[in-house]
Amino acid sequence: MESIVIKNGLTYTNGILTEADVLIEDGKISKISKGNLEGDLAIDAGGKLVLPGAIDVHAHTHDPDFLYREDFEDASRSALLGGITAYVEMPLVKDIDDIPSFEERKSDGKKLSYVDFGIHGGFMRSKNYNRIRELNELGLKTFKVFTCRPFQADDSIIIKLLAESKNTGSLMLFHAEDEGILSYFSDLFPERTDQLSVHEARPAEAEELAISKIGTYSILTGGHAHIVHLSSGIGLEAINRFKGLGADITSETCPQYLVFSRKDAERLGPYVKMAPSLKSENDVEELWNGLQSGKIEMIATDHAPGTREEKEIGFSDPWKAWGGIPGLATMFPLIYTEGFERGRLRIDTLVRVTSENAAMRFGIKGKGSISVGNSGDIIVIDRNYERAVDGKELYKVGWSAYDGMKLKGWPQYVLSDGELAVDNWNFVKKGRGKFIELNPSRYIQLK
Ligand SMILES: [Zn+2]
Repeated sequence: MESIVIKNGLTYTNGILTEADVLIEDGKISKISKGNLEGDLAIDAGGKLVLPGAIDVHAHTHDPDFLYREDFEDASRSALLGGITAYVEMPLVKDIDDIPSFEERKSDGKKLSYVDFGIHGGFMRSKNYNRIRELNELGLKTFKVFTCRPFQADDSIIIKLLAESKNTGSLMLFHAEDEGILSYFSDLFPERTDQLSVHEARPAEAEELAISKIGTYSILTGGHAHIVHLSSGIGLEAINRFKGLGADITSETCPQYLVFSRKDAERLGPYVKMAPSLKSENDVEELWNGLQSGKIEMIATDHAPGTREEKEIGFSDPWKAWGGIPGLATMFPLIYTEGFERGRLRIDTLVRVTSENAAMRFGIKGKGSISVGNSGDIIVIDRNYERAVDGKELYKVGWSAYDGMKLKGWPQYVLSDGELAVDNWNFVKKGRGKFIELNPSRYIQLK
């Protein structure tokens, strides 16, 4: 494997930006020093930012029933174009809850994925909750649980799952919306077909109530919980309350909840239908504040594309539209532009929420920072480069909810496991990624 040196960049290492060259040999970072490093291939990063590759712990990319939308190969290409050098595959519809389903997804990923990938189990509920220990022993230690339809786990199972997470050291990932509130509103709105109806039927209170339940169960059992796709300010307050009581509970939010509010639902219609729903402009600000203050640990995509047809059917009836959006290629550019370049996030916070914290919480070894011995997962950003989002170039489904939006933060170069994956904004990677075994660790609150 050819060695690569990234020269003269502003390199983020040890918590600061410093002028340093980085040498990558045999897939790993072997030297970081000021000047004078040589490699088979040199990348001139003069004046540019050299950052650890982004990590996405929540992407639905390869469900056997939906391979017409994309597969590991398409999705990992999208990821690399946007600076994501590792992601964790989340089940979409087909459960990953036994040996054959886990092995099948793993072997598909090894064959097809251009980036290193992990796999979450799920959806845990009454029919499979007693398999946690056995799956742990196989190396599957993170599990998706729904508090609502379509894969709802009963309360009596949710508390047992959290108890099992303590016993086994695994982590439960919650889609947190209260089913009672959701079904009340969807029953109340049978005739509404306006674009706001599908958002108003999933109010912020549904998220807050579900998180309160999970937090309470976590305190009682000592269980380990992670809230996926946090969308509201009151949901964040609930998480903080339980953190204050000593619960091991972390969260991720997604770019869509930091960029869009319900106002955009009127403009973009079914293209921004998602679950949880979009919230108010105030919620958007509270989520940004949560990221900056360290109360929200990370950004994830909840990448779940549908085709244009599956979305556009919702212009006449939004209830029929597919409820998800592609997000792998735009996660980093959006957070970089709207967060860092707009002054909402400092550089250290940007790196923490896009890479470091995910590696720590989910136990992704050798990733999350530019350090000697770590994987050669590095992105190079030219701060002056700006380009409009074009979903046709980025995704197999050919669209993005952010189409036309001008963003910075598109990586000029991406190294993935020490191989050049993006060269001058073009995808060039040949080699495939490795399976990552996740080893979640307890969240330690910094005072
Ligand atoms: Zn999801």
